[in-house]
Amino acid sequence: MNILLLGSGGRESALAWKMSQSPLCSNLVIAPGNGGTAAYGKNINVNPNDFEAVKALVIKEQIEFVVVGPEEPLVNGIHDFFLADEQLAHIPVIGPKKEGAILEGSKDFSKQFMVRHGIPAAGSRSFTKDNLEEGLTYLEHHALPIVLKADGLAAGKGVLILEDRKEAQEELQLMLSGKFGDAGTTVVVEEFLSGIELSVFVLTDGDNYVILPEAKDYKRIGQADTGLNTGGMGSVSPVPFATPEFLKEVEQTIIVPTIEGLKKDEIDYTGFIFFGLIKVDGKPFVIEYNCRMGDPETESVIPRIENDLVEVFVAAAQKRLKDVTLTISPKNAATVMIVAGGYPGDYEKGKAITGIENIRKSIAFHAGTLADGGVIKSNGGRVLAVTSIQDTFFEALQSATADAARIYFDGKYFREDIGFDLM
Ligand code: ATP
Repeated sequence: MNILLLGSGGRESALAWKMSQSPLCSNLVIAPGNGGTAAYGKNINVNPNDFEAVKALVIKEQIEFVVVGPEEPLVNGIHDFFLADEQLAHIPVIGPKKEGAILEGSKDFSKQFMVRHGIPAAGSRSFTKDNLEEGLTYLEHHALPIVLKADGLAAGKGVLILEDRKEAQEELQLMLSGKFGDAGTTVVVEEFLSGIELSVFVLTDGDNYVILPEAKDYKRIGQADTGLNTGGMGSVSPVPFATPEFLKEVEQTIIVPTIEGLKKDEIDYTGFIFFGLIKVDGKPFVIEYNCRMGDPETESVIPRIENDLVEVFVAAAQKRLKDVTLTISPKNAATVMIVAGGYPGDYEKGKAITGIENIRKSIAFHAGTLADGGVIKSNGGRVLAVTSIQDTFFEALQSATADAARIYFDGKYFREDIGFDLM
């Protein structure tokens, strides 16, 4: 089968690595891919958000199956675009249609969805320009800290946690006056939940689902989770505090009501659902839904799945997931992200990377890299995800961290503490 994977990050590297191992995958095309994905298939430089260009690629390469990595093309309706085009409509797409991707694309929608279906989440209210005054009054009496969220996609920057009511009022005004563009025309004001976060993932065909291994990611740039938020500096799977009883509760109180809720709302959903969860006093609450896998969680999660991933995707596309049982390795995975100096602020690209061949016990999943002649160069803020799979949690953390130290480029930085807080 000729398969197209859309995306260019570490998540897509891990998916391409796994999919390329399947006997069902005779030809893998990654668009646009990165400096590492060419090892698993053919990179073609097409932007996943340019649907007409994706169509031309699909026809030229005789693509028979599509897997969408990032959220943006899904929220913009790439799956709907395929269904509406007579040359593409027969090609299965893993990733929800617009009506399902809105779970990530609109925080206001996802909050209403959770309330409607009794899914545990922080209490909230949404405001627009039309009821700004009401919003300002509401904030005067809101418990601190206050969480403000721009409704739409804002590249992880649209969430503010504020300790001061006046500041919250000013920010609400700024957000509703266009601070985040269209993403902020509605703002969700949310109760602050205090607890420890983790992520749970399912793949669903709309009726049935399989639960993937859970993971924890590390969002902040600095050691001990300090400093600015990033796209993610590392991840671990499994998560030691996610006990079987806790995960059972996640399934019963969150996963099942979400799948049932989609059905009740007549949202036909094929693809991943990423549940961003927080454990508060032992109980799970949903912080957010995403309509795709996480990055860098995927790099720790996918290597623990022992099934043929393409076979699982085909079953999802054919609504046969009830026949699939995932076999999960009991091993431990840790991922350490190597980033460019200055990230998440300004950083330079084009630095030659050396030492990838020196890593001993890990896989180097490329993220922001490109192959320039025979040289791999940095091409983004998050450059390489170093993943180690070992018998013990400690060994995985230690070897991913040690292998991250074996790779070099000018200005490189990585956190040396990924996962150690959970020991
Ligand atoms: P990302 O792109 O990083 O996944 P996002 O922009 O989609 O994030 P959220 O995941 O909703 O936004 O929020 C970002 C982070 O803010 C969360 O991971 C969590 O740490 C914190 N956060 C969000 N909502 C709450 C809340 N109600 N209580 C406490 N912390 C929260």
